[in-house]
Amino acid sequence: MKPPTSPNPVHEAVRAESLTKVYGAGDTAVKPLQELSVSFTAGRFTAVMGPSGSGKSTLMHVLAGLDVPDSGTITLATESGPVSLAGLSEKQLTLVRRANIGFIFQAYNLVPAMTAEENILLPTSLSGGRNVDREFFDQVVDRLGLADRLGHRPFELSGGQQQRVAVARALVSRPAVVFADEPTGNLDQTAGTEVLDLLRTAVDEFGQTVIMVTHDATAAAQADSTVLLSDGRVVETLHHPSAPQLATAMLQAASSGSAGPASGHDRVIEAGPQR
Ligand code: ADP
Repeated sequence: MKPPTSPNPVHEAVRAESLTKVYGAGDTAVKPLQELSVSFTAGRFTAVMGPSGSGKSTLMHVLAGLDVPDSGTITLATESGPVSLAGLSEKQLTLVRRANIGFIFQAYNLVPAMTAEENILLPTSLSGGRNVDREFFDQVVDRLGLADRLGHRPFELSGGQQQRVAVARALVSRPAVVFADEPTGNLDQTAGTEVLDLLRTAVDEFGQTVIMVTHDATAAAQADSTVLLSDGRVVETLHHPSAPQLATAMLQAASSGSAGPASGHDRVIEAGPQR
């Protein structure tokens, strides 16, 4: 008998198990990832929060294949099945990244000499331009309000517009996962809200998976769930939390500091209005 099928199966986009990362050695060693395990659901918007130095950026870079952990495994769900990042060569990692991962940086990281359109298409042109879905490109550009800015270079654009170009660049190749590291960190409130709305749209309308680091509880409240880090571990996962609930959880994480969960099991909190 065939197993029952769910109309809405929950897939994992990324799973990380027992990640460790150590910088330096001896008394001065810094351990941004300490046996960290986490999984992110496909087609959802997840925020990653935690005190400064808790390992958020390191985790994002390692999950996105921009850096390698000292130990542990990362499995990425791709169109052709699950791919383990462990043991891939630099070249293989680059190919997996290009095909499956979008990254949005706090500082936009656009190429100054290229127009907005060239920047948006850069990842697809690097992979031979094979995957340019012009219809999806137009849809993303329209939704991001960039149609009349495509010929502009980054210095001719505001910070908010530059970040919108960076968001479009991360979305157009329809990657399995879009990572965003403090994407609103350099923006004023209006431009920041716009970028958050676009990330929400990427999930709700384009079916993409977004994982975003933020220190801002209001920004994290836009996500479906929030993973809270402290001292290189996951200490709590909150589903649909409100901004005040997140602010309180952040304060607790900051004050508990290295106390962390001795058991290695994080708490799961269901809260707030369902989206
Ligand atoms: P967060 O994003 O939560 O602020 P990070 O992941 O940036 O935390 O950093 C975690 C810890 O690792 C910090 O103490 C930081 O100084 C340290 N760290 C990060 N990158 C490096 C590096 N390349 N060399 C040495 N230490 C690093």
